[in-house]
Amino acid sequence: MKELSTKLLVIGGGPGGYVAAIRAGQLGVPTVLAEGASPGGTCLNIGCIPSKALIHAAHAFEQARHQAKGSPLGIRVADPGIDIAQTVRWKDGIVQRLTGGVGALLRKAGVQVLKGWAHIDDGKTVTVKLHEGEPVRVRCEHLLLATGSEPVELPSMPFGGAIWSSTQALSPDAIPKRLVVVGAGYIGLELGMAYRKLGADVTVVEAIDRVLPTYDPELTQPVLEALKKSGITLHLGCKVQGWDAKHGVHVRSDVKAEDFTLPADRVLVAVGRRPRTAGFGLESLQLDMAGRHVAIDAHCRTSMRNVWAIGDVTGEPMLAHRAMAQGECVAEQVAGKNRRFEPMAIPAVCFTDPEVVVAGRTPAEAKAAGIDCIEAHFPFAANGRAMTLESTTGFVRVVARKDNHLILGWQAVGGGVSELAAAFTQSIEMGARLEDVGHTIHAHPTLGEAVQEAALRALGQALHV
Ligand code: FAD
Ligand code: NAD
Repeated sequence: MKELSTKLLVIGGGPGGYVAAIRAGQLGVPTVLAEGASPGGTCLNIGCIPSKALIHAAHAFEQARHQAKGSPLGIRVADPGIDIAQTVRWKDGIVQRLTGGVGALLRKAGVQVLKGWAHIDDGKTVTVKLHEGEPVRVRCEHLLLATGSEPVELPSMPFGGAIWSSTQALSPDAIPKRLVVVGAGYIGLELGMAYRKLGADVTVVEAIDRVLPTYDPELTQPVLEALKKSGITLHLGCKVQGWDAKHGVHVRSDVKAEDFTLPADRVLVAVGRRPRTAGFGLESLQLDMAGRHVAIDAHCRTSMRNVWAIGDVTGEPMLAHRAMAQGECVAEQVAGKNRRFEPMAIPAVCFTDPEVVVAGRTPAEAKAAGIDCIEAHFPFAANGRAMTLESTTGFVRVVARKDNHLILGWQAVGGGVSELAAAFTQSIEMGARLEDVGHTIHAHPTLGEAVQEAALRALGQALHV
């Protein structure tokens, strides 16, 4: 067996692992990255990027159909159609450009990439079974676990055939006539809404009594209304029991204590993701775990010296930008810098229509922490830019300390609000007060003016509402 030695070995080339490897390489740390699938991980190949591509294509198609029905804007479109095979090719082209770019960046940073599955022998030795050629035994001073996560399967409906995980839903060979989505979380609603726009009859089955349970009900109410308006059927407080090709999905309603069946051509199961911790010798390290995920401290250190972990394998929030920030943080520590991973806020965006974005604390979270706070909303119905975009649903909400007006959190729901994540998170990280945002000149006409107006409103100085 071939052997090589390095200072840092990263297992997993997703946004956590590849960013760690690039940063370590830039800092002159001899670095090896083992990736068994494709560089870019879940995010670039089967997650964030392809899902947002499909969501955009579905939105563009829906817009064309909307205009064709009689456009208030005066646009004339006749009988729009969609060639889904071309849509998938277009999406795959974006994925290829980005994953190719990651490969180039790794090369530029001097990172040695091993294409193959890694197996941990001990905390300093890993065997990588290369896709081509004999296995390599890598000895390292630092081992970074960035193995990500995988979709949770329902025992009664294993993935395969008509039962899709998000991966199959991102590369359809045809638009199913009837799609049942299990789970009204991020994936279920982002992709469920996209499929509805692509023309499928979509039914969503959710175990608890509300959609998008990680967000507060005031934020998700406009999404709920949009779901209903779009013609998506929702079954809340219901659990799927199983499936058969003849009848469809068997569902049990806990609320009504009744069973029913939903006919379906395809079923998208999106009931969460679990950290990838099994099948590659991780157990042999006997690391401290926190439930299903690897436990880490504020430096991303595991319970074993010089074994680090980042990203989805370390649990919630399972978001690409968190994984990237942790990766950079670990690389700098391995290079001898003094870093901790203690962000003031990790923004989260749900790319439904309308979109939802949060950063920092909600009013309820601030109150639960015993903080006397003020909150204010500004509705997009009073924002000129939103009107020009035909998208006046939703609002921006700010939460600040009552005593010194320090901003604790921002939330928004509305068309295109994902782009407000940067302003929200920066203001929290920089310790901005309501006056800082309220008295900053925001360009007109932009959705950002709603951010300024929310801050002004919290100060009792709103101008446009
Ligand atoms: P991953 O991206 O999962 O990468 C882990 C890598 O490790 C994989 O490439 C895997 O092949 C490799 N690996 C695992 N074990 C081994 C081994 N033994 N040897 C070699 N290689 C190994 N997040 C957002 O922030 N925004 C979004 O819009 C968003 N949309 C999403 C949409 C979908 C449909 C899905 C499924 C996820 C989405 N996410 C989104 C979540 C995001 O993709 C993850 O949080 C992110 O990819 C986690 O990064 P990671 O580096 O921890 O792991
Ligand atoms: P999720 O945790 O967002 O939602 C899962 C939903 O399924 C929940 O509402 C849950 O109550 C429901 N559920 C669980 N078991 C069920 C059952 N048996 N029957 C019916 N409903 C059931 O999980 P997800 O949508 O699979 O996404 C996984 C993770 O991927 C997310 O938590 C997030 O971290 C990441 N992600 C992020 C984005 C984004 O940032 N925009 C997009 C997609 C995915």
